[in-house]
Amino acid sequence: MKALIIDPSRSFQLFLGMFLRKRGLITDYATNENEAEALLNKDEYQLICVARILTSGDCRSFCFHLRSQPESSMIPIIVFTASGDLDTESYLALGVTEVFHRQDVVALDAYIVRLKTTSSSNSKRGGKILYIEDSLSVAKLLIKSLEQQGYEVSHFTNGEEALSFYENNSFNLVLTDVVLAGIMDGTALVRHIRDMDKNKNSLPVSILAISSYEDNARTLSLFQAGVNDYVRKPVIDQELLARVDNLVLNHRLLKELEEQQQHLERIAMTDQLTGLYNRHYLMDVAQKKIASIKRHSVKLSLIVIDIDFFKKINDAHGHTMGDLILTQVGGLFKELTRDEDVVARIGGEEFVILLDACSLKHAFTKAEEIRKALEEANFENLNVTASFGVAQYGEDDKDFGALFMRADKATYLAKDNGRNTVATD
Ligand code: GH3
Ligand code: MG
Ligand code: MG
Ligand code: MG
Repeated sequence: MKALIIDPSRSFQLFLGMFLRKRGLITDYATNENEAEALLNKDEYQLICVARILTSGDCRSFCFHLRSQPESSMIPIIVFTASGDLDTESYLALGVTEVFHRQDVVALDAYIVRLKTTSSSNSKRGGKILYIEDSLSVAKLLIKSLEQQGYEVSHFTNGEEALSFYENNSFNLVLTDVVLAGIMDGTALVRHIRDMDKNKNSLPVSILAISSYEDNARTLSLFQAGVNDYVRKPVIDQELLARVDNLVLNHRLLKELEEQQQHLERIAMTDQLTGLYNRHYLMDVAQKKIASIKRHSVKLSLIVIDIDFFKKINDAHGHTMGDLILTQVGGLFKELTRDEDVVARIGGEEFVILLDACSLKHAFTKAEEIRKALEEANFENLNVTASFGVAQYGEDDKDFGALFMRADKATYLAKDNGRNTVATD
């Protein structure tokens, strides 16, 4: 970041220069307005510091002049004063950003910190923008500015094409003109995009509309359609870019939040050792499935699996080896079932498989297939077997707990039958 210090006093120039450089800014000096203008024409600055009294008198007219020049119209201007009694408002009215007392280093420090934070968050900008504007000359200029800021822009002149492109691509921001080339206008486009986001159950994209209409009713209808913000034509480039940055940043933060939430949800329903579902998720999903089969009369079966003599494996080979075996056994169960089946580890060496749209007969066959595969598998050169209990949800089962009890009881039966077997209650 670069600052221009305009001050006739050499000592204050040096003091302020040192202060700013300590905070990571690069500084240039000008003693009067002419020197300042020469530097502003030559270089790019992100901050202008002006002494209230210049050699030609009060700095207000110079500040006003700076605001009217394209190269300095958007740069923050800070005026430094030695007088405690000052009509600050008259300076702000002429385009000055802030007025500081020369000795108020605390306020200046806070200002610099804030300025640096915004500019560093701006340097991280970038993202994908869907831009709809029917005037090619207007579009060309804005696309250039957006691309200079690091944005990737997809441009369309009509809403219909933009909408079908939106359907298959994701964006951080939609930037749309209100009057467009096709039949669909900007307001209708916004409405369609909002419907699409809702149907896809995806995070709503940020939408910024550009309107040449002055009337409040139209502005209101844009907001009712779902825009986040709007700017009026003729567009001031810097203002538009600042709004774009804000909206893209908001969208990105919301997306991060959503991802964190999804991550937490995944953790909450996952068994950390095996990566299978846990008991908590099983209970949740099983209750929902039971409610749905009651309505649709679909069959639902449950297999409860308890590994045989697992304590012996731990005792002989250690708990870490036991954990490894549990992970591999879990992987085998997952591999042998369909994606829509719920495979969960519900306790130490106990697993369940909830089979949707599956009769007792089929569940029994499935359990037998898994039993055999486990018996034949050779995890870490050890023979691992398990006992299987199978039950199908029936009208007498008042809830999932009742179904589970029956399948679990069948597991004990399988143990009694000599283990490494499948049993029903
Ligand atoms: P059975 O054939 O009667 O089921 O015998 P078992 O030894 O498998 O049954 P028991 O219930 O007596 O012991 C289960 C053992 O599983 C006890 C414990 O050491 C082990 N276990 C439970 N949770 C874990 C775990 O997370 N990791 C490891 N490595 N072992 C576990
Ligand atoms: Mg237009
Ligand atoms: Mg057990
Ligand atoms: Mg066991």
